[in-house]
Amino acid sequence: MDLEEKTFESPGDRCEVCGAKLTPRELEAVLESGGPALCTIHADEVVPVTEDEEEFGEE
Ligand SMILES: [Zn+2]
Repeated sequence: MDLEEKTFESPGDRCEVCGAKLTPRELEAVLESGGPALCTIHADEVVPVTEDEEEFGEE
């Protein structure tokens, strides 16, 4: 009996930013969006927010 346990971290199984293991739900979201593997927190950051972009002036 030789159970080959995969010890390597398969890409897409963990958040590419913080390395947190993705939950099945997060994995599902990644598959659905077809984007990079990101945890909920970082996936949220990546989402392009196109609201309130008028506040650009810094003076
Ligand atoms: Zn993350």
